[in-house]
Amino acid sequence: MSGRKTESPVWSYFAYDPSTDKSRCSVAVSNDDEGPTHECGALLNGKNATNLRNHPRYKHRSEYDELVTLEQKRTEQKEEPWRQSQLNVKVCSTY
Ligand SMILES: [Zn+2]
Repeated sequence: MSGRKTESPVWSYFAYDPSTDKSRCSVAVSNDDEGPTHECGALLNGKNATNLRNHPRYKHRSEYDELVTLEQKRTEQKEEPWRQSQLNVKVCSTY
């Protein structure tokens, strides 16, 4: 592991547990629009970002759309520095 942080924006939605080699989905879900939310908690094997993306893609459509947007913003990073700093805040708050 180097100190370089090039992790995918999927880590806004997942927390990797090295002891079990599983990544847990932390997307807030509710049974209906008005109901209380709880953490999805789905466990996915490994920490392959491309693999993990498939879960929100089918289960959390709005989060997935947001994720795709984040990835696109990342690619064109320099264009919108405000978006980048917003992302950093989000990542830090999960620790
Ligand atoms: Zn989930």
